[in-house]
Amino acid sequence: MRDDAFGNALRATDFENRRQLAKIGKPVDRGEWLITPATVDAYYNPSANDINFPAGILQSPLYDSHASDASNYGHVGGVVGHELTHGFDDEGRQFDGNGNLADWWTAEDGKHFDEKADCEVKEYGNFVAVDDVKVNGKLTLGENTADNGGLLLAYMAYLDRAKKEGVDLAAKKDGYTAPQRFYIGFAQNYCENSRPEQVRNQVLTDPHSPNGVVQNMPEFGQAFGCKAGQPMMPVNACRVW
Ligand SMILES: [Zn+2]
Repeated sequence: MRDDAFGNALRATDFENRRQLAKIGKPVDRGEWLITPATVDAYYNPSANDINFPAGILQSPLYDSHASDASNYGHVGGVVGHELTHGFDDEGRQFDGNGNLADWWTAEDGKHFDEKADCEVKEYGNFVAVDDVKVNGKLTLGENTADNGGLLLAYMAYLDRAKKEGVDLAAKKDGYTAPQRFYIGFAQNYCENSRPEQVRNQVLTDPHSPNGVVQNMPEFGQAFGCKAGQPMMPVNACRVW
């Protein structure tokens, strides 16, 4: 109904609740998508153990058939790596290959994971988002683990491809080397302006944090000529995966 936004919201919620409840006792529909084809987003679903990329996110600038491989791997490659790594973050690791909640790790591996994850909890927990409000390192751990592990995966995949194609990593195109274009592509994914109120709301409620990935990748510092110990190449960088 055109003139009843609140009523429409109630009816839509009612419809969705019934649709979800009707699934009980039925076989799992592994072909179901949780977001629409036009959505510019992607997700990992631990219950299905699958990663999903609708058409909306496979468009320029995230994936651009005219852009260089380095740029595309930094853009959408980082997103693909992010969703893959969610399967092995603090939540995803609790689900087995069939999507069931089951601990399939050795106690020793679990302990090592917690130690490495704790480095990220502390690191992100020290980021000042706005005024005196800091990022919540625990709330954002899963996303941070996925961001960090995902970009490393994407970079490894890019280096692999570049090697196969004999790309000269030191050669410049449009003024930048291939590793630099990879990281610029990644940075463009996150390029935005936010009001202080929005940032405050985000860090208090959203598991996605303002991004702190590249300082944990020595490969970034090497690409841009940073020296060990400088802010973007800290000696105590965190790495879970
Ligand atoms: Zn995520």
